[in-house]
Amino acid sequence: MKFTPEKYRIPDERMKPFIDTDEIWEFINNARPTKERVREIIAKSLDKNRLNLEEVAILVNTTDPELVEEILQGARTLKERVYGNRIVLFAPLYIGNKCTNNCKYCGFRSSNKDAVRMTLSDEEIVREVEALEENGQKRLILVYGEHAHYSPEYIAHTVKLVYGIKKNNGEIRRVNINAAPLDLDGFKVVKDSGIGTYQVFQETYHPEAYSWYHPTGKKRDYEWRLTSLDRAQEVGLDDVGIGALFGLYDWRFDVLALVRHTNHLEACYNVGPHTISFPRIKSASGLDITDKYFVSDDDFVKLVAILRLAVPYTGMILTAREPVEIRRQVIQFGVSQIDGGTKLELGSYSDSKNEKQDLTKEQFQINDNRSLAEIIDELVDNDYIPSFCTACYRLNRTGEHFMEFSVPGFIKRFCTPNALLTLTEYLVDYATPEVQVKGFKLIDKTLVDISGHQNTDEVKRRIERIKAGERDLYF
Ligand code: SAM
Ligand code: SF4
Repeated sequence: MKFTPEKYRIPDERMKPFIDTDEIWEFINNARPTKERVREIIAKSLDKNRLNLEEVAILVNTTDPELVEEILQGARTLKERVYGNRIVLFAPLYIGNKCTNNCKYCGFRSSNKDAVRMTLSDEEIVREVEALEENGQKRLILVYGEHAHYSPEYIAHTVKLVYGIKKNNGEIRRVNINAAPLDLDGFKVVKDSGIGTYQVFQETYHPEAYSWYHPTGKKRDYEWRLTSLDRAQEVGLDDVGIGALFGLYDWRFDVLALVRHTNHLEACYNVGPHTISFPRIKSASGLDITDKYFVSDDDFVKLVAILRLAVPYTGMILTAREPVEIRRQVIQFGVSQIDGGTKLELGSYSDSKNEKQDLTKEQFQINDNRSLAEIIDELVDNDYIPSFCTACYRLNRTGEHFMEFSVPGFIKRFCTPNALLTLTEYLVDYATPEVQVKGFKLIDKTLVDISGHQNTDEVKRRIERIKAGERDLYF
């Protein structure tokens, strides 16, 4: 079957599966990277154009170290030129790990009898969220297994509960979701609860590999999952996140498939995914897979850079699954969001004595155990501006990454000032005196950089208003 993009623009055809395995392999098998071609492709991306599948195939097949370095440098330049030095911070909150699926890579799989199953009660959710707020978090992603207990109504209930929890100056201003695919009505219910992004990872886009990893349960249905975010879009939930779990199949295939998924959403709904995630398999209780497709650190760094160049205006999320060194390295290539102070064990944010990881209570092992405070300290030391901004979402400015990318001056007018305002809140409410000094120095320096784009006097006035006790100011 040949893929014809036009076909997928016909509304009735929208929710049809859009991955053509043979076509993706043809692109990869026929791609011949030459110096000239690789440089042309990097230049095309730096000119603010999304790459097509043939071009992405050339990049994933590039192995000449000199050219790989040019790909990394290209991604670094794109990030510096377009996005500047903001990093948005969030934390995951696992609500429940009951699960009727049996994904071979996941500690929550139904056949893993060692897994301790639990669902947080409302009181426990309140305690967890208060603890997260006391650390300075403003953005959460709630995570659920796939189980009848976690119905759309239940998910909506937990979202509203979280928005209502306020501790001192703390509040959660954006709640994202990572949960199983829903039907149209289900997505509508969750949308109406006021979520930010709904994330569903396809895990692997290769249908046969997919069925091997998902032997039983509802998740067996590849197409139901593949078309889930189309259903979200159909009910107006246009803020969606896609992802692939690297290590399940040939990483080159899944990189091209992520780009195809992006193209599909753009072609059908005029809005691409808000974010792309690229988790790598980590140890988990009951893990039942071989390491045949595990992705080396070098390939991982390369694939992140290629994704940055391929879809220059999509947010990219890097989680604490990765160790500190890899996080430091990969952030340079255009990652826009990271988690900080992550704990995966249910109920562990409010349990300060519990510092050890216990894999029977966690979905997988994390490799960056630093607290939010430590991460912010390091970001500031390296001239990155930690941001908790939620302004676009609150002002209904959807497609924010696209605007950041394509509207001249948008970042300096809105994103950077908002990052500075949320950083000021963090420094005043949660930082140590030492980090406060460093943080305000970075703020002063950044104010000079944005002068001429935003009325810096107004930004300064708002910073002073925050210092005097006001909160939640944004442009
Ligand atoms: N049950 C829902 C689902 O499967 O979509 C919720 C999400 S699951 C709790 C979140 C994601 O974690 C999965 O989509 C998968 O990509 C990832 N994951 C599962 N096992 C993992 C492992 N061993 N290492 C790294 N990531 C893993
Ligand atoms: Fe369940 Fe999700 Fe884990 Fe699969 S990845 S076993 S669906 S929690």
